[in-house]
This record gives sequence, C-alpha cells and structure tokens, in this order.
Amino acid sequence: MANIVAIVGRPNVGKSTLFNRLIESRVAITDNMPGVTRDRHYGHAVWTEKYFTVIDTGGYVVGSEDTFEEAIREQVEIAIDESNVILFVVDTMTGLTGLDKDFANILRRSKKPVFVVANKAESFERQQTASEFYEMGLGDQIYAISAADGSGTGDLLDDVVKVFEDDGIENPNEGIPRIAILGRPNVGKSSFLNALTGKDRSIVTDIAGTTRDAIDTHYRLYGKDFILTDTAGIRKKAKVHENIEFYSVLRSIKALEESDVCIILLDASKGIEAQDISIIANAHNAKKGIVLMINKWDLVEKDSKTADHMKKEILERIAPMNYMPVIFASVLEKQRIFQVIEKAMEVHENKTHKVTTSKLNEVMLPIIENTPPPMLKGKQIKIKYCLQLPTPSPTFVFFCNLPQYIKEAYERFLQNKIREHFGFEGVAITVFFRNK
Ligand code: GDP
Ligand code: GDP
Repeated sequence: MANIVAIVGRPNVGKSTLFNRLIESRVAITDNMPGVTRDRHYGHAVWTEKYFTVIDTGGYVVGSEDTFEEAIREQVEIAIDESNVILFVVDTMTGLTGLDKDFANILRRSKKPVFVVANKAESFERQQTASEFYEMGLGDQIYAISAADGSGTGDLLDDVVKVFEDDGIENPNEGIPRIAILGRPNVGKSSFLNALTGKDRSIVTDIAGTTRDAIDTHYRLYGKDFILTDTAGIRKKAKVHENIEFYSVLRSIKALEESDVCIILLDASKGIEAQDISIIANAHNAKKGIVLMINKWDLVEKDSKTADHMKKEILERIAPMNYMPVIFASVLEKQRIFQVIEKAMEVHENKTHKVTTSKLNEVMLPIIENTPPPMLKGKQIKIKYCLQLPTPSPTFVFFCNLPQYIKEAYERFLQNKIREHFGFEGVAITVFFRNK
C-alpha cells in the first residue's frame, strides 16, 4: 500500500520548507513564476526503510481573504481524503493564531492520525512556546522542529512511520501507464476527460502515490489501470487568478513531460492544422507514445471510405511521424472512447517492448545484406550487428565501420524495417550507428 503523508497549516508556517526537507530535494520552479510557485505538491520520501509520499496541500490553496474559510476546508478535505497521516504545521514564531484554531476544529473531526508540528523552533524560547499549542487539543504530543535546519524532524518521522501499516512502496506508480490528453483548444479534451471519469462508466480510485509535479489521478477502467497526468481541469481544486493562458500552456507541457503516452485530440470537422502538427511534433520529440484521436466524428458527413481517406491524408501530413494509430471517435456520442484508452495501453506496451539481440540480428542482418547502405566516396559500409538499448523508448544501435557515412534515408529504412517486423505502433524508434 502507498503510505501518504499530507502537510497542512495556514500560510507561512513552513509547510513547503518541511515538504522539501522530507523529500530532500529542492523545488525546481521558484517564486518568480506567478501562479505556479506552489505547484509542486507531491514527492516521494523514505525514513528508516519505510516509503511514503508527501503532499504539500498548501499549493492547492490560492484563497483570497474572504474565501479563506472555504480554502482551508478544501485543503483539509484533500488531506483527509488522500492521506494516512496528517502533519499539521504551526509556527512557534507567531504562536497560536485564530486560523490555527480553525484548522484544528476541522481536523479534530477526521479519523486520520494528526501530528502537531511546531515549526521554526530553533531556539530554546521557541521550543517553550510550542507547549501553547496543546490548547488546540489535537495529538498526544507537540513536535517542536525546525524545517529549515532539520532539527526535531527525525523524532517526528520515527513516530510518523509507526502509524504506517506496512513498509510502503518505493515507486508506487511504477509500470502503470501515464497518459496525457493533449490538443488545441476546443477539440474536446475536457469533454473526453469527463466522459472517462463520469460516474456511469468508471471507477475513480484515489491517488496511489504520485510523481514530481503534476497532479495525478489513478484510474481503473474496465480492469485497466492508468494514470492521467494533469487532471486539474476535472478536479477544479486550485483557483488560479493569474494568467490562465500561460498557466494552461505550462500545464500541458508538464503533463506531456510526465506522461508515457499522449492521446492527442484533433477535431474531425476541422481536419489537421499547423497547431495540431506542432503538438504532435512536441510529443514525438519528447519520445512519448502517441495515439491520435479524431474527435467529433459525429459532425462529419461520411460514407464507407471517409475514415480511410482522412486517415491517409492525416498520416501524409505528419510524415515521417506517421507511425501512430488513428481512432475516429465521438465523445458526444460516446463512440470508441474506451477504445482510445485501450490503444494507449497498447502503445505503452509497445514502448516498453524489448527485442532480444539474437532475434533482432536474425531478422535485420539478412535485410541489411540484401540492401546495404549505399557506398560513399568509394567506401563500403559494413554493419556487423545490432542491439536494442535498455532505454525508456525503443532505441537501436547498429555497429559498423564508418558510421558517419550513413545517410538519413538509410536510417529511416532501418526504422521502417524494425517497425515492419517488430511492431512498435505509436512510438518513435531511434536508430544510431557506432563504430565497432
Ligand atoms: P508555507 O507557506 O507554510 O509553505 O511556508 P514556507 O515553507 O514557504 O515558509 C514560510 C517562511 O518561513 C519562509 O520565509 C521560510 O524561510 C520560513 N521558515 C520555514 N521553516 C522555517 C524554520 O524552521 N525556521 C525558520 N526560522 N524559518 C522557517
Ligand atoms: P477542450 O477545450 O479541448 O477541453 O474542449 P471541450 O471539451 O471544452 O469541447 C469544446 C466543444 O466541443 C464543446 O462545446 C463540446 O461540447 C464540443 N464537443 C466535444 N466533443 C464533441 C464531439 O464528439 N462531438 C461534438 N459534436 N461536439 C463535441
């Protein structure tokens, strides 16, 4: 089971400092990016060989003064829902405040274990101040710590890990496909998400651990597990007042980076446009698996040949990135929606597929012998053998003399032959040449 520890508390008490201390690494995106400064919500941690995931709930709350009560409730709800243990951080520099009491009142109603963490207790005086937090009537003990210098955190963690039922999971999401849903505005991304997660057709399990930056949700649909990266759209948890456009671009870049496979939506009634191609190119360059979902198929007047024609036209436009499956779907009519997810799973499998060296050489060497690389400057190029590297996306290295003489056309020829014989639908194949 994944052990999840949530950090709650009012602003400025040191939640994110504690979060960083626990996950022992620093936030990549810092204060100079409005709206995203607190976007890092999750991280993995380990203490005395017990693994757990830490949530910094502070990042969810962008409440203004008048919505504070609501914002607190929201933050605490997230914490209670998603965690096994709650760290309630208070500040020994300011002492007990009204807002701390508000938090305490809500937390008292939860059944999850709460640890009161009195932060910024570097000096003896502040450690003394810590005892005033007993007044809140929460927890058996007040843990005086300094998130900044780490003092007291060891004792706190010793007690926290005692609450866990087991040792946790080192990488809770390992092996589960991570899917991003991309596409330009209005192609139907949110509708698709809603259709997937609508109560009538899916069970939404809760976060089973997570990753670096995006908010991830773990789904099980018809017995298949997957994680949607960036589900902020559905969850509507954070209220973002900053530049929405900038924020959504940033989010989709992040979702792309964090995913294994991208489902890229196109609008069937509009055909493929430059912006679609650039989204596809981004995913291709990032070596993500890709499924093209041609949405709004209901809007197209069609006969039995329309789909084939359109598919051919699209694949021609995106050549040489034309290795991806194309599915015609309608979110509106709930047509082939699940097939898209199934295809994404398949692509994920293709992406992780490994061809044994013997099988690869058995197939490829005769092909190379039949069609060797063209001579260059009177020199014969001899490819001796090849192998697949243990990389996250399929990469093949061909050992030869004069690797610098091999042209792109021949590289593409080999890629196509690998595809022809070993599948890899939906994933880019990288080929390179090394001197033996
Ligand atoms: P959050 O809003 O609760 O996430 O609080 P932050 O982690 O952003 O910290 C708020 C301020 O308190 C920052 O200026 C931190 O440098 C400071 N701070 C955090 N932890 C400590 C600590 O242990 N000791 C001291 N003296 N300052 C701290
Ligand atoms: P997003 O901007 O990509 O998230 O797109 P939305 O999900 O907000 O959808 C944009 C518009 O397209 C909305 O009016 C949807 O109702 C509509 N839409 C989404 N999917 C379909 C579909 O399969 N068929 C039709 N006809 N309309 C759709």
